[in-house]
Amino acid sequence: MSSQIPVKQVDPSSDASNKNNKNTGSVELYASRKKIYVKEVKGLFQRIRNVSLLALMGMYFLFVWLTLDGQPLIHFDLPAREFHLYGATFYPRDFILLSGMLIICAFGLFFITTLFGRVWCGYTCPQTVWTFIFMWIEEKVEGSRNKRMKLDKSPNSPAKIAKKSIKHSLWLLVALATGLTFVGYFYPIRELIVDLFTLNANGWAYFWVAFFTVATYLNAGWMREQVCLYMCPYARFQSVMFDPNTRVVSYDPNRGEPRGGRKKDANPAELGLGDCIDCGQCVQVCPTGIDIRDGLQYECIGCALCIDACDDVMEKMNYPKGLIRYTTENELEGKTSKLLRPRTFGYGAVLALMISAIIFTIATRVPAQLDVLRDRGALFSYNGEGRVENSYTLKIANMTETPQTFTIQVAGMDSIRLLSQAEVTVASGENRSVPAVVDVDPEDIETSNTEIRFKIESLTDESLILETESRFVGPNS
Ligand code: SF4
Ligand code: SF4
Repeated sequence: MSSQIPVKQVDPSSDASNKNNKNTGSVELYASRKKIYVKEVKGLFQRIRNVSLLALMGMYFLFVWLTLDGQPLIHFDLPAREFHLYGATFYPRDFILLSGMLIICAFGLFFITTLFGRVWCGYTCPQTVWTFIFMWIEEKVEGSRNKRMKLDKSPNSPAKIAKKSIKHSLWLLVALATGLTFVGYFYPIRELIVDLFTLNANGWAYFWVAFFTVATYLNAGWMREQVCLYMCPYARFQSVMFDPNTRVVSYDPNRGEPRGGRKKDANPAELGLGDCIDCGQCVQVCPTGIDIRDGLQYECIGCALCIDACDDVMEKMNYPKGLIRYTTENELEGKTSKLLRPRTFGYGAVLALMISAIIFTIATRVPAQLDVLRDRGALFSYNGEGRVENSYTLKIANMTETPQTFTIQVAGMDSIRLLSQAEVTVASGENRSVPAVVDVDPEDIETSNTEIRFKIESLTDESLILETESRFVGPNS
């Protein structure tokens, strides 16, 4: 038996618009879009998505306004090359943490997908979240699925133009709020709004707000499922992560087939029918316009709206719910499913390892850095006291939220002395270069190249102590 659930590929020739091309022998490289009129549905999974949608939208629109200890809660300060996150500040040198977090996200997604299919797509992906908001607006302004279809077919009239204008205005408003908020994570939101509306913002701010506004409007208002079908790489490689134990939205053909219409109280067994009454509700509510009864298809984003629709039909027919449900290929074949299996262990182990490594790195991260560069202009020189002198540049980075005054010490040879400044104040976020001059009694020099250590200690934060090795170069003894 195959270890993967087969995922159907798009066949452009199946599209009605391409059928004519068969006669000419030409092949369309892109299937023309047939507008999908999604029917509103209520049910358990729609409620779960609404909660997730409200929570995610709430966080997105709220967090940009919040501050912690005077710093924005989340802020990417590109000119200063600083990233403020929940009170901590990260710098380009912390790039390894960002890489680690991205790896965690990727493996988290693989892990969840192996267990529960495309729950990310169905409940949390920004494309889904914004598309559902735009569909909700459409439903409120233009009415139900049938009314929207009728409206689109009807000739232009003041009522139609008014409805379309209201819908697009509301879409643009949500898109503008989205664009402003997104840019607000890079440009302090309060300043951004004032600067934009007083025409004092720089050109890039206008460009990016406009760009994200238009992108949101087009993606969620016009392109919708096409983003998932043609632009998202995840849909294409998801089948690699699925196996017969992956729990995905599936139609139960054993129970549903043969499908067919019947009266409400008719006994399907007597009619030689399964439980599917072929009402098409599952297709009408599908945001990607597919029929889940054809099997798992890569167009399926796992939103579970077809489960809600079918459960509603089953309830009305007095049949048990779950003709379409979250299940596994094994369960549909009457076998048992395993939650824990080699690939979940594999993804889980990498995930646990990466999370532990990131936690350890953050917990032991010292928010300061000391680098020592030996002055390469001269190997050494003799000073007025006849001592051997070397010069260095100390690069001290302060990654805390407050200025730090550091003492500078040097050690490693008995008579070593620091001749330059012994104290330096470094502002928050500053990477300061400090010249350092060191001398040694020639009697003390045993080799031409001796290891020494520079040490800085903060007077304001006892935990900030850093040591870095360097070399002292002198004459051959
Ligand atoms: S909603 Fe259920 S009963 Fe209706 S067509 Fe779909 S699977 Fe069949
Ligand atoms: S088939 Fe069902 S779960 Fe898949 S996208 Fe359509 S409605 Fe959502």
